[in-house]
Amino acid sequence: MTAYCLGSLLYEGKAKRVYATDRPDLVAVEFKDDATAFNALKKAELAGKGELNCQISARLFEYLAARGVPTHYLGVGDTRWMLVRPVRVIPVEVVIRNVAAGSLCKQMPIELGTYLEPALLDLYYKDDAYGDPLLTEARLELLGLVNADQRRRLEELARQVNRELVSLFSSIGLQLVDFKIELGFTASGDLVVADEISPDTCRLWDRAVADVSDRILDKDRFRQDLGGVVEAYGEVCKRVQGACPQPRVYG
Ligand code: C5P
Repeated sequence: MTAYCLGSLLYEGKAKRVYATDRPDLVAVEFKDDATAFNALKKAELAGKGELNCQISARLFEYLAARGVPTHYLGVGDTRWMLVRPVRVIPVEVVIRNVAAGSLCKQMPIELGTYLEPALLDLYYKDDAYGDPLLTEARLELLGLVNADQRRRLEELARQVNRELVSLFSSIGLQLVDFKIELGFTASGDLVVADEISPDTCRLWDRAVADVSDRILDKDRFRQDLGGVVEAYGEVCKRVQGACPQPRVYG
């Protein structure tokens, strides 16, 4: 048990609040019940979502850490609190797509459900004011967000996360369609996976269900007004709990 006291609010995002603590090596993240989609044009409060996303994320970070994937995760506090290392987050969203869905099918003549082999890796500039635009290599260079070596490491790490998560989700009857991760640098310069990994940031389809709406167990239920959002997240949580290590608790 490592005691800490909550400090000032450092940042409030759409789904989380990030607080300083009295320890410079520890930051506390509170998962909110707020749900947003389409760059916050659609909003709702879904009781229980924050806790479920916190617990799912914590388990997935435990799983990744056990397989040598560096992350910012240190443990959990109360039900919807996660303790993490302070990280300078790179303003780039890394999306990996194993199966075509979402924006890919809206923007390209690719049918929903098409397998993408190798998985497609897309980088987006993380800035709501600009609508998180897709980055080209030239634009990434223009903005000077990462150098060539950092970009290579970032993509390698994202692909490693994909391999681990595809295998994990497959073992619990879920198809990892696509996901977004954020990465950052710790004070000592290590590149780590940051933010969260949850049904808010992944597309997950139930492998045992053929119906294209019923199989959805992620935020698309909210985006597409399918209902049963919290129930779907609960199902993911239950399955993830059965396959991942118990989150360590920070007192
Ligand atoms: O919308 P799109 O199809 O590009 O999303 C790809 C994946 O990235 C989805 O799993 C989505 O939930 C996730 N994503 C995210 N945050 C964003 C954009 C996409 O978690 N700002």
